[in-house]
Amino acid sequence: MLNRGVIERYRAYMPVTPTTRIITLNEGSTPLIPAYNLAKAIHPRLDIYLKYEGLNPTGSFKDRGMTMAITKAVEDGFEGVICASTGNTSASAAAYAARAGIKCIVIIPEGKIALGKLSQAMIHGARVVQIKGNFDNALQLVRSIASRHAIALVNSVNPFRIEGQKSGAFEIVDDLEGYAPDCHALPVGNAGNISAYWKGYKEYFAAGKAKNRPKMLGFQAAGSAPIVLGRPVDDPQTFATAIRIGNPASWKTAVEARDESGGVIGMVTDHQIRDAYKMLASIEGVFAEPASAASIAGLIKLAANGYFDTMKPIVGDRIRVTCVLTGHGLKDPDSAIKAAEETVTVEPTEEAVLEAIGLEASVSALV
Ligand SMILES: *Cc1c(COP(=O)(O)O)cnc(C)c1O
Repeated sequence: MLNRGVIERYRAYMPVTPTTRIITLNEGSTPLIPAYNLAKAIHPRLDIYLKYEGLNPTGSFKDRGMTMAITKAVEDGFEGVICASTGNTSASAAAYAARAGIKCIVIIPEGKIALGKLSQAMIHGARVVQIKGNFDNALQLVRSIASRHAIALVNSVNPFRIEGQKSGAFEIVDDLEGYAPDCHALPVGNAGNISAYWKGYKEYFAAGKAKNRPKMLGFQAAGSAPIVLGRPVDDPQTFATAIRIGNPASWKTAVEARDESGGVIGMVTDHQIRDAYKMLASIEGVFAEPASAASIAGLIKLAANGYFDTMKPIVGDRIRVTCVLTGHGLKDPDSAIKAAEETVTVEPTEEAVLEAIGLEASVSALV
């Protein structure tokens, strides 16, 4: 089936009419990859599936919401959009605005944006303004500007973003042939995505398309964990810049998702995120950006605390967990290079290369 993007794929669930001009880059329909090696390493009863959102057109799940937000901005007659961003929202907004032929303005925290994301916003022609402040300051600014100017706000406080993003839940249930997973794990930053996934699972369940609803397992970075701590964090810190947010806009709906689903919102340290980030890439061959690995780090922590030991799965005797890998690893090559083993440089001789790779010069053939 030709992929025509998430609005066409799930048109009955999206706020569009037959005459709506749909702005799409054929986002969505991303793979759900079984992670056998991770499952084996984490808990004997888990089946883990990775929803690899890095394979969206701009490399993150933000495209699911942006197709809907830009489609509605154009339908409502806006000639420009604005957003605050930790990086991926700006990359996505810039691309979809370019596609639609409208202006895009992005406000980002200076020096805290992964290089890949910044390059995207720039090459798509957005007006990029860095502020000497954090994401929370940037969001406050764009909310105020959008309320007084004819420019559409496309952060996840825009309800159309959530409508588009809920398509991720529909795809998972479709791939699992009418079942939601037992648990759904994802990183939590501004908390739009956990709210969107829960909305999607509920809608599919109500429509009779899913036989069950998952427990929602959200994870914040320990230095940016306002929901876990129960209060805003003034100076949020974490190397997982996509979730470096101290006062999430969708705080209330995230807590509802947790409580209605019987799930958990927990926190993981940067050390745990970094380990999970490396593990995912090195034992599973899947490269996601640091924030995405918070979901894996969270699973490891819950498994170690016995969370899954007595859980009853909806089918069979294995617990199915989906993990949203929210963004592609190539977004943030600096973090990968810092986390990985160093490369070596040697003289261009066979002797030197053999020594560097740990083979002896006297061995005649690799077998
Ligand atoms: C935006 C983003 C998040 C956080 O999603 P929220 O909806 O803000 O909670 C996590 N990971 C990546 C890669 C992101 O781009």
